[in-house]
Amino acid sequence: MKLYWGDLHNHCGISYGYGSLENALKAAKSQLDFVSITGHASWHDMPERTEELEFLVDFHEKGFAKLADHWEQVRNTVAEANVPHEFVTFQGYEAHSSEYGDHHIVSLHDDFPLMEGDSPAHIIEKLGSKEVIAVPHHVGYTPGYRGGNWESFNPEISPIIEVYSKHGCGMSEDAPYPYYHDMGPRDPRSTIFEAIRRGHRFGFVGSTDHHAGYPGSYGDGRLAVLAEEKTREAIWEAIRARRTYAITGDKIQADFRINGAPFGSEIQAADARKLELDVRGCDTIDRITVYKNLKPWKIINGDEMNVSKPQSGKFKIRLEMGWGNAKDGYIWNGQVSLENGVLHDVETCFRGRSVLAPSPDMKEDPTLNELANEILEQSEQQVSWTCTSFKNPTTLHAHTAALILEVEGDVSSKLHIVLNGKEMSLTIGQLLEGGISTHLQPHNSEAFLVHRAVPEQAYTYQGEWTDEQAENETDVYHVEIRQKNHQFAWISPIFVNA
Ligand SMILES: [Zn+2]
Repeated sequence: MKLYWGDLHNHCGISYGYGSLENALKAAKSQLDFVSITGHASWHDMPERTEELEFLVDFHEKGFAKLADHWEQVRNTVAEANVPHEFVTFQGYEAHSSEYGDHHIVSLHDDFPLMEGDSPAHIIEKLGSKEVIAVPHHVGYTPGYRGGNWESFNPEISPIIEVYSKHGCGMSEDAPYPYYHDMGPRDPRSTIFEAIRRGHRFGFVGSTDHHAGYPGSYGDGRLAVLAEEKTREAIWEAIRARRTYAITGDKIQADFRINGAPFGSEIQAADARKLELDVRGCDTIDRITVYKNLKPWKIINGDEMNVSKPQSGKFKIRLEMGWGNAKDGYIWNGQVSLENGVLHDVETCFRGRSVLAPSPDMKEDPTLNELANEILEQSEQQVSWTCTSFKNPTTLHAHTAALILEVEGDVSSKLHIVLNGKEMSLTIGQLLEGGISTHLQPHNSEAFLVHRAVPEQAYTYQGEWTDEQAENETDVYHVEIRQKNHQFAWISPIFVNA
C-alpha cells in the first residue's frame, strides 16, 4: 500500500466561494493525488434573516441556489477530471447545520444527487443505497453554533472527522492552532478528544475548507490515505477503513501499527501489543507523542535525534519565497542545479490566495486563483519552477511559497540557485551551519530564504515498543508528530479491544 495526499473539503465559485472549478481542479492536481470539491448546498436551521444577518443569509441563499442551478455541469466537470492512477476526484457538497455541526457529504458515485434534509444523517438516509459519507468538519466550534455534536455522532456514516483546516485545529482544548475565525472560539466540549472520551471510533483527516478554489493550499490542511492504488475505489476503501491521517501542510509520511494492523484498525489483543512507528518528515522533528487513551504514553524528543552532524547522506533543504507587499501576488521563476549530489525529491508548498468566507468587498472573479504554481522540469541534477507568493496578511501569518528539496550528497555538494535574477551558490556544508536570505531590492521587497540543511536523522524516526498493559475494555492509541516549523501530523487511532 502507498500513501496518497488529498483534500476532501474546499470551495470555489460553484457556490458562495470564488474562482473557477477548472482552476480549482488544476491547483489540486499540481500538489495532490485526489480531491473532492464541495459546493455549499444547504443549511436546514439557518438563522432568521434580520438586518444584522442580511449579508450572511443572503450569500448563503444565493450560493445554495447557484450550486443547484449548475449541479449537472459541476458533476460532469468533476467526473471528467477523474483519471484512475493519475488523479482521482470524488463528488461532494456541504450541508451546514447549527445543531449537528457542518458536514461535507462525499460520494463514490458520479450520479450523486443534490439532496437537502433536516440533518446530515437525514440527507444520507434520503440518498438511500448510494455509497456516501458525511464528514463532520471544524468540529471545535461551540455546540449548537455549528460545532461537532457528539450526542448524535454516527460512525457508520462518518468513518472520518476533519480535525484541522483553515479554521484551526479541533484536536483538543490545548492543541496548537486555536480557532480565531468570526464563527467563534474552540470549545473543549466539541473537540476530538471529547469524542474519543465518549467512545466514538473514527479516523482523522485534514482538508483546507479553502473558499477561493485552491484545494491543498499549503498549511491549510490536507489528508493522507494508505491505499492499494490511486483509484476512486481504493481510496474510498482506505477512507472507510480509517487508514487516514491529518497533516497541516508538509507531507509528513508516517506508518503506525499495532500487532501489524495499520492506523484506523480495530483489533483484539488482550495482552502484549507491539507498537511500530515509522516517520519520514519534511523538516526537523520537534516531538512525537504516542497517546494511549488520550494521555501521552511515549514522548520522543526531536532534539535528541539531532545531536551529531553527518558529513554525508540525505538532507532536506527548504527554499522559501515571498515577503514584500504584493497583495495581488508576485511571480517567481527559479532554478536549482546540483553539483556532486543527487536530487531525489521535490515537494511543493504552494498556497492559493487565502480566503475563508465571503466578504462584502469581494467580487466574483473566476481567475482569482489561476496561479502560475508548478514544477516545470525536474531531474536528479536540477529543478525549475514558477510560483506565486503574496504579502503576508499579518506578521504572524505566512503567505509565502516554498520548495523542499531532498538531496543526497556530502558537505561539498553544491546548490546553484537562480531566482528572479539573483544567483547564489551554497554547499551543504555551509547550509548545515545555517540558512541564508536574500532580498530582491534594497528595501521592503520580496525576498527568499534558503533554510538550513536538515540531515535525514533529524527528519526521520523509527520506534518499536511493547505494551503489556490493557487499561480499558478498548484502549485507543494515536500519534501526534510535531516539526520545529510547526507543521503537524495527527495519525488516526488504533482501537485495541482487550
Ligand atoms: Zn466548508
